[in-house]
Amino acid sequence: LGPTITVGEILVEIMASTTGFGFKEPQTLIGPFPSGAPAIFIDQVARLGGAAGIIATVGADDFGAVNIERLRQDGVDTSAISISPDRPTGSAFVRYRDDGTRDFIFNIMHSAAGAISLTPPAETLIAKAGHVHVMGSAFAIPGAAGVIDAAIRSVRSRGGSVSFDPNVRKELLGSGNFRSQFETMIQNADLLLPSGEELFVAAGTDGEAEAVKVLKARGVGEIVLKRGRQGATFFGASGARYDFHGFEVDEVDPTGAGDAFGATYLTSRRQGLGPEVSLERAAAAGAYNVTRRGPMTGLPDTVQLDFFLSTNPRRAA
Ligand code: ADP
Repeated sequence: LGPTITVGEILVEIMASTTGFGFKEPQTLIGPFPSGAPAIFIDQVARLGGAAGIIATVGADDFGAVNIERLRQDGVDTSAISISPDRPTGSAFVRYRDDGTRDFIFNIMHSAAGAISLTPPAETLIAKAGHVHVMGSAFAIPGAAGVIDAAIRSVRSRGGSVSFDPNVRKELLGSGNFRSQFETMIQNADLLLPSGEELFVAAGTDGEAEAVKVLKARGVGEIVLKRGRQGATFFGASGARYDFHGFEVDEVDPTGAGDAFGATYLTSRRQGLGPEVSLERAAAAGAYNVTRRGPMTGLPDTVQLDFFLSTNPRRAA
């Protein structure tokens, strides 16, 4: 079937070179690093040799160019990235604290990223897609929901599949809009990729087993729960479950791990691998990603991923 496509924000990340609190004093910043959850995800699909495309908007500036060049070099179809004539590419300033939490300053929704619409190149990309991956964060963009809806309908009509990563902060989920869009996504998803508490938010209930049951009853085929450095769990049809306890690595920058993980799981599955092997490959991609600074710096290609898998011990349960 056709390429994996996604819809959503492209931006640059600019990070403080030292850990500390916020941005109130002058400090050394490094960047721009290409970023945006959908961009990280789709780049990883392409790095593993999967056909990939993205519907997005950037500004007519260097921050946009940095992203487009990176995606294109890795083999992503960038024909449906439009260039906004009047809005700059979005940015996220990030500073890590010593405890691993982060301070952010976002400029996304008023940037070019907020201007996504169903352009003719987007329609062309949708018409050949075989899989749509949706990031919850994309629903913060007013025009994105319509594009996502069109993509899902089109892919479904050709027998394609849909995955959903509800990557959005809990506080945002309360808002009415997100709730109904998440409901629609859960009804449509063949694969759900929640991280931690997102499982409970998606299911509307607490308790892991209960949440999985609720989501299965609503038709989600596969659920893969991400657990940070503790690894991940696969919940499949008829009660199948695999736990993978992860890899021991030195975490330098956690941004992008979940996206690298999700893209690797999905691409492995689409390449015909079983859920257990796909889970391990996905966890390896997530672990590899956190060892490099910059959300897209540590996205492994197939050779790097296989080397990581053959040289890194698995954590014990
Ligand atoms: P998200 O970024 O969506 O919150 P996680 O932080 O759970 O997702 O990361 C996704 C996956 O990447 C995890 O399930 C795990 O397999 C891997 N991973 C993340 N952080 C680490 C880490 N510090 N050490 C090893 N593996 C990690």
